[in-house]
Amino acid sequence: MSENYKEMWKNLGLDLDQHDALLKVLGKGYQDIYLAQKDRPEGMGYFDFVMSEVHGLRIKELMDEKVAGRKVIGSFCVFVPEEIVQVADATLVGLCTGADFAIEEVEKLLPRNTCSLIKSAFGFKLGKVCPYIESADMIVGENTCDGKKKSYEILKNLVSNLYVMDLPQVKSAEGRALLKAEYVRFKEAVEELTGITIDAERLKKGIEIVNNKRKAIYRLSSLRKVDPAPISGLDALLANQVFFYDNPARFTESANKICDELEKRIENGEGVFPKKTPRLLLSGCPMAVPNWKLPRITETSGAVIVGEESCVGERGTRNLTDDSGTTVDKLMEAIIDRYFQVDCAIFTPNPDRLDHIIEMAKTYKADGVIHYGLQFCQPYLMEAMPVEKALEAKNIPTLRIDTDYSMEDVGQLKTRVEAFVELLK
Ligand code: SF4
Ligand code: SF4
Repeated sequence: MSENYKEMWKNLGLDLDQHDALLKVLGKGYQDIYLAQKDRPEGMGYFDFVMSEVHGLRIKELMDEKVAGRKVIGSFCVFVPEEIVQVADATLVGLCTGADFAIEEVEKLLPRNTCSLIKSAFGFKLGKVCPYIESADMIVGENTCDGKKKSYEILKNLVSNLYVMDLPQVKSAEGRALLKAEYVRFKEAVEELTGITIDAERLKKGIEIVNNKRKAIYRLSSLRKVDPAPISGLDALLANQVFFYDNPARFTESANKICDELEKRIENGEGVFPKKTPRLLLSGCPMAVPNWKLPRITETSGAVIVGEESCVGERGTRNLTDDSGTTVDKLMEAIIDRYFQVDCAIFTPNPDRLDHIIEMAKTYKADGVIHYGLQFCQPYLMEAMPVEKALEAKNIPTLRIDTDYSMEDVGQLKTRVEAFVELLK
């Protein structure tokens, strides 16, 4: 980290010793997993810098924004509409849920058999190590899976600014009406927090900013369709993860810059792995920073990941919001239409996700699919079997992995992934 941020962290109420310990582990992990890769695009230097300053410079920027009157809103889910946050001169940040922390403390509040993602959110709060949670003026919890919605009843005792957003579970007219009511209520809550009235002009601008960010990451994903893949799955995942933290305009510019570089690599036939390396699609639960376990195992087992059917990936970023409306009502309808297409496993039934996985496997020319489910995640584990069946009916080999954030199963996972890659070869 280029500056000493201790005073800032102290003012945010972080536990400096615990925080130092976390940064040490993260720094070492990043070095071993990311910086050890070969032939990375030069443009990844920007993302390396963002990660090295994720608790430093980025937090300082947020603090400066707050002094200038902007608000920070934290979210755990891609259903929180960034367009609405952007237009109210507020900044949306994803809250880290990708590592175990303070597990003993967490298990005093949550059952042991809760998914790692939920436990992680609590661990970062209880361990006082997340400057994003501490700098948020509003934390949005969404009623998606049962684990999340029940855990928010407990989280609200730990934070003073939890805003709970209800979400539909069925893609029906009634489901859409619920989403609409909740987005209108959220818009009003954001207006109240920021003191800004959201008009059509602002909303259009917000849609444009977020659409540009989505177009850039989608462009990057599309470049992974070629063989040899011009960027590793680990690096592409990192770009998808930074999507949730960085300043949107800067992210868009940096992602587009990498795409320019990748296009040149493609022209020259250069890749990060040799041609004909088995290509895999990852599908399932979201992988938040610093959850890099399975991608790393996969890409050190002779395969390359060419796409992520995940909320930290194409499920979360595909589909743009139509910005042709001229009134707040029309633009809000467009936002609702866009988010109502997200095919999270909390929906029942959820056939769109199946179709999307098959379509992605074809478009990205994947030789196989790894379905990644977090232990105790009912929605994704329940969908894993139908997904496997549907893919195998299309002759797409599938490996189902259920895991958590611990490192205890790394050896066993590696053996299974290696055997799967051998089979594909
Ligand atoms: S998997 Fe579902 S609950 Fe989780 S971030 Fe995605 S949309 Fe939200
Ligand atoms: S991983 Fe599954 S159980 Fe965990 S929060 Fe997401 S949907 Fe819920």
